Amino acid sequence: MRSFSIHVGRLFGVEVRLHLTFLILPLFVFWTEYNARHMPNGPRDLALVGIVLACVAAHEIGHMLVARRAGLIPKAVILLPLSGVTVFDESRLQKPESADAAWKREVRIALTGPLVNLAFAVAAAGIFYVVVSGAKLWEWPFLQPSNLPRSLVWANVYLAGLNLLPAYPLDGGRVLRAFFARTMDPGAATRRAVSISHALAMVLMVAGLFSNAWLTMVGIIIFSAAQLEERAVIFQSVLDNVRLEEVMLTDFATLSPADTLEDALEKAVHSLQDDFPVVRGSDMVGVISRQRILEALRMEGNGYVQAVMNKIFEVSVRQESLASAFRKLTSRNLSIIPVVEDQRLVGIVTLQNLMHSMALLAESRKLRRDESNS
Ligand SMILES: [Zn+2]
Repeated sequence: MRSFSIHVGRLFGVEVRLHLTFLILPLFVFWTEYNARHMPNGPRDLALVGIVLACVAAHEIGHMLVARRAGLIPKAVILLPLSGVTVFDESRLQKPESADAAWKREVRIALTGPLVNLAFAVAAAGIFYVVVSGAKLWEWPFLQPSNLPRSLVWANVYLAGLNLLPAYPLDGGRVLRAFFARTMDPGAATRRAVSISHALAMVLMVAGLFSNAWLTMVGIIIFSAAQLEERAVIFQSVLDNVRLEEVMLTDFATLSPADTLEDALEKAVHSLQDDFPVVRGSDMVGVISRQRILEALRMEGNGYVQAVMNKIFEVSVRQESLASAFRKLTSRNLSIIPVVEDQRLVGIVTLQNLMHSMALLAESRKLRRDESNS
């Protein structure tokens, strides 16, 4: 998701990004206007795009403020043409005290977005009704550059209605998922919400072929968003449920602090490892990377591993989860974590090896699931 979006600014200390699919919107508006009147109206068309963007932003701000009050720290908001995605700061995620509190919190956060849009629609309609004589709020088409006040009202109504569809990851689908999660584990709840979402997306895509092309587009967007979300959930469950002993490398080379850098390089040549634990007797005393060995040799000539190794490192135990190891690696910018048992080195975990095994594990879980479904 993140890679297909561009940074546009900050709001309430939260990074705001615009998803590239949002560019479809101006193109679509220009195109329909051109077809209808054989000439685009640049400023008004752009104003309509701006209105939709503002409505989506208001919707997301609604989610964000309620989420923050519930103790979740939003990190970034990505705006899409139909809704937005709020990315939370995982490392500061607070677990709610009970399952009951968790599902109520989900529902509260999900419903705020559509409610904000409905409130805006009602307020805008009221104001235009009073201020603008002959506001023509009920005339078709509801969204049209030539009547921006009416478009503002209906853009909010559409956004609210659309996001309330029970199509995960839209808000209605999130409520549904939270409801399922009361009685099943989170992974299964997500899968059920995703399959309902897929079915609904299919119906929209087909219905769009016989009526309005917009429906097909909405269907496609829901379909791909649901798939993205499902993948993220599988990934997270691998992170939480897999123990380090299942993925750590047990066949690895170590160095001694008394080794010379040339000896170390010689050993590194015969190993696939990029990082090495440095061990004295059975004690872990440091870590060193192939890169560091080379740099030291180039800059200072031959010396001892002891002098250039990194003495600051984190250790883990066998039973730790991948999520925990991952946090240690990324938050301190480490590239290797020794796994110890009774102060004895039993394995190592490197960033490269983690990425590799996570991809494999996610794939094998998916295979196992497909098998059990068929
Ligand atoms: Zn929403």
